[in-house]
Formats: sequence, structure tokens, C-alpha cells
Amino acid sequence: MPSDSLSFKCHHCNHCCTDVICLPSPWDVRRIMRMTGQDPFDFLEFLTPEEIEDVDDDDPTWLELNGAKYMMALKRDEVLGCHFLNRDTKLCSIYEARPLLCRLYPFKVEEDDAGTYQGFTLHEDVGCPKHADGAVALKPLYDLYVQDSINGEDYNELVEFFNAQKYPGKEIEDFVVMFTGGFSKLRENLDEQEREKAADAAK
Ligand code: SF4
Ligand code: SF4
Repeated sequence: MPSDSLSFKCHHCNHCCTDVICLPSPWDVRRIMRMTGQDPFDFLEFLTPEEIEDVDDDDPTWLELNGAKYMMALKRDEVLGCHFLNRDTKLCSIYEARPLLCRLYPFKVEEDDAGTYQGFTLHEDVGCPKHADGAVALKPLYDLYVQDSINGEDYNELVEFFNAQKYPGKEIEDFVVMFTGGFSKLRENLDEQEREKAADAAK
């Protein structure tokens, strides 16, 4: 029977908000937009494989454009850290809206060979000092993990759809337009371009 808590306490060293690149899902982006009113292009960037380590070459969330690959990430300053880290308080400025990955860090789900949930441990290969002077309830973590897995499947499908689209003027930012409600507008613009091209060809 898996334990219902894990010995851990965050000591707010800021490592995870300063040194770790945060990869939000499209649902994280939508939630941040809704709860903060911020324009996604103010807080997102697209990283190339050279700019981000530890993501497998075959990760299904690599966006592809003109032979290059990009990963959607929260903007980050090499020294100051995440775009959303408050420079004065050193706390997350969007705590209630923060991405699921931030909520799951530094926990790692444990499953047996059949994929049955066994509990959580702390990631070994991350820089968190992993202080054990507290107790974290695992049920909320498990619920987050399940939600993150569902979101992950949808994210993969969105990326697959985006990568399959071929049209003139395609930009990597169109991926964000696609899941933030602007896709119908994008489609209209493309249809308009096609209509103009057809009209020009008919002259
Ligand atoms: S969104 Fe908040 S919790 Fe996540 S890395 Fe940025 S500052 Fe840290
Ligand atoms: S690295 Fe660990 S201790 Fe430091 S802020 Fe992140 S979760 Fe807390």
C-alpha cells in the first residue's frame, strides 16, 4: 500500500525557478493568460535543441518548422531566472496559475512494471537540496500527475497537427495562436491568402 505522504520541505532556495527551464503545456499557457491577463508572447519563448538540454530528440512536443525544431518554454533570463520570478521577493508571481510541472517539481512518480501507481520519490538528477524536514501529501500530487498525463497526450496531438500543416508564411508563433482561440482567425487569413492567389492566377 503506497504511503500517503513523502518527507520533503521546500526551503525556497530558488534553484528550480532560476536554473531550470520551465516547459508549460498549452493548458498552462491558457490558465496563465486567463488568470494574469498577460499576452502569451510576453512570457513564452521557443528554444532550439542547442538551447535546452535533457529533452530527448524524439520527444513528441518538439515543434518543427523549416527543418528546425523548437520547444515552447517560459521566458527566462540566464541570471535572474524565470520571467515570473518576482525579482524582489524571489517568489513566484503567478503562484496560483503556475504550470503543472512547477507544482510537481521535484517529485517523481513511481510505477511498477504494469504501470500501477506505487507512490512518489524525489528526482535524483535535479538540483533541489531535497530537505526532508516536512511532509507532503501525495493524493494532490497524484491528481496533478494524472492531469499532467492527460494534458501531455493532448499536447502531443496538437504538436502533431501543427507539424503537419504546410502553408506559406507559417511561423512558430502560429502554434500558440492555434490553442489560444486564434486558430479560426489564422485559418481565415490563410483562406484569404489562398483566395487572393487564386484570383491573381485567374487574371
Ligand atoms: S512559473 Fe513560478 S514556480 Fe514556475 S518556474 Fe516560474 S517562477 Fe518558478
Ligand atoms: S529547488 Fe527545491 S528547495 Fe529549492 S525552491 Fe525548488 S523545490 Fe524548493
